[in-house]
Amino acid sequence: MDMTKSQFDVIIVGGGPAGLNAALVLGRARKHVLVLDNQKPRNWVTRETHGFLTRDGVSPQQFRAYAAEEIKSYPSVQFTSDTVIEINGQDGAFVVKTGEDKLYHARKILFAVGKRDLPLGIDGLKEVYGKSAFVCPYCDGWELRDQKLVIIASADKVLHMAKLIAGWTKDYVMCTNSDGTLPEEQMLELSHHGIQVYESPVHSIVSEEGMVRTVKLNDGTVIPCSGIFFQPKLQTGSDVPKALGCEVTDIGTIIVDTQGKTSVSGVFSAGDAASEMYQAIAAASLGALTAVSINNELNFERWDSSEDTRIIK
Ligand SMILES: Cc1cc2nc3c(=O)[nH]c(=O)nc-3n(C[C@H](O)[C@H](O)[C@H](O)COP(=O)(O)OP(=O)(O)OC[C@H]3O[C@@H](n4cnc5c(N)ncnc54)[C@H](O)[C@@H]3O)c2cc1C
Repeated sequence: MDMTKSQFDVIIVGGGPAGLNAALVLGRARKHVLVLDNQKPRNWVTRETHGFLTRDGVSPQQFRAYAAEEIKSYPSVQFTSDTVIEINGQDGAFVVKTGEDKLYHARKILFAVGKRDLPLGIDGLKEVYGKSAFVCPYCDGWELRDQKLVIIASADKVLHMAKLIAGWTKDYVMCTNSDGTLPEEQMLELSHHGIQVYESPVHSIVSEEGMVRTVKLNDGTVIPCSGIFFQPKLQTGSDVPKALGCEVTDIGTIIVDTQGKTSVSGVFSAGDAASEMYQAIAAASLGALTAVSINNELNFERWDSSEDTRIIK
């Protein structure tokens, strides 16, 4: 491989809102950037992304297309569809290996790999996920407003979710899916607000063309509804950050400081991978902030090195 073509200032792993906004900022800062993305974001089950000013309601694919069109103005940014499987080396000299057996070299790494869903083991959930079953009321609560909903959340989150959902509809029940037992006082509080709680495991979801009709419980209860919010189980979008030595929390969120720096020198992370906000605009914003921090580091290092600081090829 031609080494000059595989040497970058920054390799961004992940081309979602976080990685793309970072690419935009770094491209405008005249850095040579490669975005490696394998196009498996968890939001591709959904048809519309909401709450992103100027882009409210666009599909996740459309969002990426708009971003690519804008970033095209900055020719030092390249995109490749590939999976990063391994990264070695250290700050200033990382070697990135991909599933297509390519090697790329970079001074800095940005992990914008998002999170991925672990299966919940509920029959029928896959068919409705992103169509009438969602994970975040800020993203899809408006579309399900005033409808009859089933909220599936572990016992420790039931009260929180019940209070939150009340802002979008008054017609909903809570299911713990047998994940924990609700304390007596919480049961009383929910009952006081007229909210029914079911503790039996969810047996299955019955739907038509992605639209939920009923939720069936193991004890035989059948709950008619037209929408579901459920609490997903998540893990980091890729195992590579951990393999490179990045510290993660017990739910797999990459630990970063306020500049997006991980525990490994020269390695950064932004977006869902490094936060638990799970909003596209928050991910994009963290991508932008982290890109600034990467660019500052690169410029300052270049200044301190013997390289000619005035010329950026
Ligand atoms: C069903 C659903 C609906 C949602 N709706 C909304 C909404 O309406 N509004 C809103 O603001 N937010 C919404 N979200 C949340 C939003 O999609 C995320 O917060 C946002 O996409 C996170 O951006 P990101 O760039 O951090 O990660 P992602 O968008 O997840 O992108 C990560 C990218 O990294 C890639 N990747 C991972 N590992 C590798 C690897 N090893 N090599 C190469 N590529 C890799 C993935 O394929 C993916 O393309 C929704 C989420 C879901 C699940």
